[in-house]
Amino acid sequence: MWTMKNQPVPGRLIQRLPKKVHRLLHQIGVLADEQGVTLYLVGGVVRDLLLKRENWDLDLTVEGDGIVFARLVADRYRAGLARFERFATARLTFPDGLKMDIATTRRESYAQPAVLPTVQPASIEEDLYRRDFTINAMAAQLNSGRFGRLLDVYGGQRDLRARTIRVLHAGSFQDDPTRIFRAIRFEQRFGFHLERTTLRLLAQAASTNLIQQLSGPRLQNEILLLFAEHDPVRAIARLEQLKLLRFLHRRLCYTKNVKRTIAAVPKALAWWVRRFPDSALDRPIIYLMALSSEASLAVVATMIRRLALSREQARKVSAGGRLADRALKRLTKEGTIRRSQIFRLLADFPDEAIVLLVAKQVGKQQGVELSRLKRRLIAYLKNKTMKTALTGRDLQAMGLQPGPQYKTILGKLLDARIDGMVTTEAAERAFVRKWLG
Ligand code: ATP
Repeated sequence: MWTMKNQPVPGRLIQRLPKKVHRLLHQIGVLADEQGVTLYLVGGVVRDLLLKRENWDLDLTVEGDGIVFARLVADRYRAGLARFERFATARLTFPDGLKMDIATTRRESYAQPAVLPTVQPASIEEDLYRRDFTINAMAAQLNSGRFGRLLDVYGGQRDLRARTIRVLHAGSFQDDPTRIFRAIRFEQRFGFHLERTTLRLLAQAASTNLIQQLSGPRLQNEILLLFAEHDPVRAIARLEQLKLLRFLHRRLCYTKNVKRTIAAVPKALAWWVRRFPDSALDRPIIYLMALSSEASLAVVATMIRRLALSREQARKVSAGGRLADRALKRLTKEGTIRRSQIFRLLADFPDEAIVLLVAKQVGKQQGVELSRLKRRLIAYLKNKTMKTALTGRDLQAMGLQPGPQYKTILGKLLDARIDGMVTTEAAERAFVRKWLG
């Protein structure tokens, strides 16, 4: 695959993409020739082609007007087109669902640290220079005569071989502090290491209040992307090591218990997936819950605001704190507990919080209690959607005056159903009559 000069054979690199994508890029390269523009495949996809890792994020960049070229491609292939003028970028969606971003090669300038940059058209070399790390700053040309030729101006291949994450210039983290989290993301994902100067610059940037200046959604995006990686346990440990957890909340404690709970999340997740393979979970949020599982309600609430979590995410994360401890205590205790009691205890718990309960208990390494907990949770989850056959309308038909007592009666009835004391509609009616005396 590599030639004598340690350059990948042009063309072969792109052949590693699925055939239909390869063919499409080739055709678009010919179109670029016709238009007299230079066209590149760029960034993460090139890195992953060299690493032989699958990547479907097709980022193309044009030395020329990217948006005009994108429109041309969209017309030719009947693809949908969305334009983001501010970043001179367009997103194409092909009829078969394939997505592709086409941008204008550009330079970026930052009026202030940590805010989004202003962009100006520039050469491909400048475009590569504004990128985060050398391994993400390579391009493969797509024009037909030079199809697949790698442009590696800043030592991306060298760093890939040395398994190194390296910024392109000393001001990189200052310009964009999200790169601090991106560095950890790639380091952890590929098992690479941060180059010495890069590590020093990162630590320097992390010791200032740069990250505080990031908007909530941008910080949230980085944190959740990191927690969506294959091994968030190590990524979180790395955040702690680099003193970055304080940006979620300065009083977020990475205690022994928290550490154990986080380390147990993969096991708890595996348990869930075995039992409920069809039920989707918000995995990154579970790690955030585990991370804040010993924090006070006030700390969790502030963290939720800082990260600008959605209402749904916030609901989940709030359920993961001290409330979970109370439920866990009850659910692991020896003795009998009625199913309906478990139902009441867990009624407002999202599935993510149930996984967290298991993780907490796995972390405690008490086998008997863990089995008891799992048994009770499974019983609960099976009953979760159980409903009474009778409704308020039925109670009315039975001659009951509408009012708050309906809620009480239907609640009792549901408990009886869950506990297996009534199993049919007739039995429910009898239950109501008896209860009414
Ligand atoms: P992933 O595999 O996680 O998608 P990626 O490298 O493809 O990683 P994207 O976020 O999709 O990352 O970005 C595509 C490319 O855009 C990157 O490879 C990099 O060249 C550039 N880029 C993205 N974010 C930044 C940033 N914050 N600063 C500089 N360059 C960036």
